[in-house]
Amino acid sequence: MIEQVFWQAERECEAEEPPADAPLPEAVDVAVIGGGLTGLSAARTLASGGASVAVFETNTVGWGASGRNGGQVSVGGKRGPDGWTKQYGKETAARLFKAAKDSVTFVDDLVKDENIDCGWTLCGKYAACSKAEHFGHLADWQKYLAETFDYKVELVSPVRQRDELGSDAYHGGMVDEFAGMLNPYLFTRGLAAAALKAGAQIFERTEVLALTPAGSGWTVTTSHGSLTASDVFVATNGYTGDATPTLKRRVVSVGSHIIATEPLGEELALSVLPKRRICYDTKKMLFYFVLSADDRLVFGGRAAWRPLTAQRSGKILRKRMVEYFPQLAGTKVEYTWHGQVCMTLDFDPHLGKIDGLYYSMGYCGHGVALSAYLGDVMGRVIAGKPEDNAFLQLKPLPRIPGYTGNPWFLPAADVYYRTYDRLK
Ligand SMILES: Cc1cc2nc3c(=O)[nH]c(=O)nc-3n(C[C@H](O)[C@H](O)[C@H](O)COP(=O)(O)OP(=O)(O)OC[C@H]3O[C@@H](n4cnc5c(N)ncnc54)[C@H](O)[C@@H]3O)c2cc1C
Repeated sequence: MIEQVFWQAERECEAEEPPADAPLPEAVDVAVIGGGLTGLSAARTLASGGASVAVFETNTVGWGASGRNGGQVSVGGKRGPDGWTKQYGKETAARLFKAAKDSVTFVDDLVKDENIDCGWTLCGKYAACSKAEHFGHLADWQKYLAETFDYKVELVSPVRQRDELGSDAYHGGMVDEFAGMLNPYLFTRGLAAAALKAGAQIFERTEVLALTPAGSGWTVTTSHGSLTASDVFVATNGYTGDATPTLKRRVVSVGSHIIATEPLGEELALSVLPKRRICYDTKKMLFYFVLSADDRLVFGGRAAWRPLTAQRSGKILRKRMVEYFPQLAGTKVEYTWHGQVCMTLDFDPHLGKIDGLYYSMGYCGHGVALSAYLGDVMGRVIAGKPEDNAFLQLKPLPRIPGYTGNPWFLPAADVYYRTYDRLK
């Protein structure tokens, strides 16, 4: 098992790269912190509108969650439509659900408009029941989605389980056709190329160290010098750090782990996912998996809430993969890696302005489509265009009582969610 993101190794990236060693400008309209989907999408939108934009990325474009996630694109969010209805009422929930649907359409349009070669396919999603009693919940869910949001999904009864998933450890499930998969690293690099084409500048290996108010704007101090910016957009999600302490105290970074097997060959691959859909299960500590273009199983999950090495998480995930898919007992795992997802107190993403800084973050592990989409929304907000998006109308990123940025409570969350999954 090598510790590397499989998506970076899958094939050569042909997208244009940011120029190395370009000098920093003295001043820009907008400084964007973070070279993931959120920051790059905002940069593309702002630069297309004529703003001067500089994106700063500590590592390289797509180094964060955007380049190392599960590649699953689907409608929804961590809290999801029923949580939205309980919290905000039916009308707001319907607007949030529409925005979540628009985020998937946004990815589809973006890939086509910018000709991004990232293996995007609208393959549909299968939500698999981890326990027999979860099937009833999915049936209620199907009815609820149809009645409340006029959104159609299909139930797959336990006897038809193997039409969708080659495992007896699951008990039926639900298909949503409006979902897809892509190579997230190639998608992010393609979006960076689109931002460059629109006129944005991208500075890799350049960390933003400090932000100091200066006149009506900011002095941005980076590891390669300083510049001034009229506005700053913080797009650091699960990697939010000391340069933005208020935001750091309002989000919790949690590790998510993934493995990729050796190529399985078509027959074995289809014995796991006969329709090549993206798939996840209904546990709190869920597993998500998908077949790569060369028939590897890319299998992810929260191996634990506490920090783990990639080797350790790789071993845990392999063991669990074989428990669910015994046909993979002799299969080698070739890649293991992990990344940080960004949790918020209310499990919703938040965007807007805090302490004079624009931000969008907190996708809670459901951010491939939402980050690109909400980055675009924030690009228009920063450009001063009127924006009527339901996510913008949620409250600002909520404070987490008693939390200063050190997630001491994660081991307790680990025990809580494991117990929940055993009992429910
Ligand atoms: C393992 C894993 C699997 C996932 N699977 C899925 C999935 O299948 N489907 C889905 O919808 N979502 C998934 N997600 C979530 C999704 O990947 C994220 O929500 C999304 O990519 C967030 O994008 P972002 O641009 O906001 O943040 P990121 O891509 O994390 O980018 C933030 C960047 O900011 C940079 N940065 C931080 N501080 C500074 C600084 N001071 N100066 C300069 N740069 C800085 C970091 O280096 C990083 O590259 C997954 C996440 C992980 C970690």
